[in-house]
Amino acid sequence: MLKEYYDIVVVGGGPAGTMAAAAAAAAGAKTLVLERDSTIGIPVRCGEAIGIPQLERFFDIDEKYVANRIEGLIMHAPDGTSVQVESSEFGLVLERTRFDRMLAEYAAKAGAMLQTRCEVTGLIMNGAGVEGVRCSRLGKRFEIKSRVVIAADGVESRIARWVGITTHLKPVDLESAYQFMLAGIDVDPRYCHFFLGNDLAPGGYIWIFPKGDGIANVGIGVSTKICDGGTAYQKLQEFISKRYGDVAVISEAAGGVPVARPMKKPVRDGLIVVGDAARYTNPLTGGGISNAMISGKHAGEIAAKAVERDDVSANGLCEYISRIDRDIVKSNQRAYRLKEAVFKLRDKALNDTAHHILALPPKKRTLKNIFLKGLASQPTLVLDIIKAFV
Ligand SMILES: Cc1cc2nc3c(=O)[nH]c(=O)nc-3n(C[C@H](O)[C@H](O)[C@H](O)COP(=O)(O)OP(=O)(O)OC[C@H]3O[C@@H](n4cnc5c(N)ncnc54)[C@H](O)[C@@H]3O)c2cc1C
Repeated sequence: MLKEYYDIVVVGGGPAGTMAAAAAAAAGAKTLVLERDSTIGIPVRCGEAIGIPQLERFFDIDEKYVANRIEGLIMHAPDGTSVQVESSEFGLVLERTRFDRMLAEYAAKAGAMLQTRCEVTGLIMNGAGVEGVRCSRLGKRFEIKSRVVIAADGVESRIARWVGITTHLKPVDLESAYQFMLAGIDVDPRYCHFFLGNDLAPGGYIWIFPKGDGIANVGIGVSTKICDGGTAYQKLQEFISKRYGDVAVISEAAGGVPVARPMKKPVRDGLIVVGDAARYTNPLTGGGISNAMISGKHAGEIAAKAVERDDVSANGLCEYISRIDRDIVKSNQRAYRLKEAVFKLRDKALNDTAHHILALPPKKRTLKNIFLKGLASQPTLVLDIIKAFV
């Protein structure tokens, strides 16, 4: 079914890839998405939480892919002090399987072709420029030529590495994350929980994201600089058995989360890098769905424009860099500075912050105030904190 040429080949059928394909196809480019897994959206390696405004930037919310609506956050300090954070607008816990499938259907409706069980194993190069992909599907190897390749192949992106971009992440810039989806537990569906502590989750946090009906994603993300994967897994198991005792596990997921500064030059001749592959995950929270969608959409639009103008050189694609700079890079740089400061806080500072916040009237218990109190000893960050939350 696959042709020998497409204007744009997108590698990876996650949110970045399908959004890129939808935008490129809608702009009139012949577009193909190649996904190595057999079903788009499976397996899920995600806590599935997303902010409502981030989703509404692209879609009217459809309950078909929403597991649960969140009304607030509860932050837990190491000494057990809990602070409930109020806001008029929190977020959703998605059913990522259904959400990713919706995105794939959206791309197909826009005119993109999608093919699962097709792994990209190499690039067709002309000097430093990319002119297509080498693939493997059901034991057959073949090539597909293109004007632009969009690398949406996730945190371990090999595509970016093949064109000589340094993709290796320092341990401090990579989190190991593990997650169990638990069933039959007593969990209030209105609140997401975050547990902090130097011993509990070194350089990261434990989360509980309720999906309703006694189901929740319970996970841990820790800095690989401080804690190895095996220890993180054990810490999560201990947390779960302490909190819930013996409990039913519906699914288990593990993955790396880039908590790094964004990739410096995500564009080469004939290539754009998007989503986790370009490290657009928010380095403070580890959330990456919305930036994957944003970068994918920009990449698809710009790639299609470049094909039409017949200039797919890095120069012809560089509008992507300015759009990403405006939409993602500046706020991620700020989040990176905050991450460095927050995860260095000792347990005592985290406990003191929780106590300060509890002394405030409930309306003032906002995320911004938590950060301002917690990082009060680092005045250079105050402006970053304000910018991050205003
Ligand atoms: C445990 C965990 C919990 C998380 N929780 C949250 C959360 O609650 N909220 C949030 O916003 N973010 C969360 N994230 C991050 C979020 O999942 C990612 O940021 C998001 O999925 C990135 O989308 P993407 O399209 O860039 O990459 P991905 O979703 O990783 O998609 C990449 C796709 O490329 C395919 N692929 C890779 N190589 C090839 C190849 N050579 N050929 C063909 N196909 C290929 C892969 O199979 C995959 O389908 C979490 C991550 C982890 C690991």
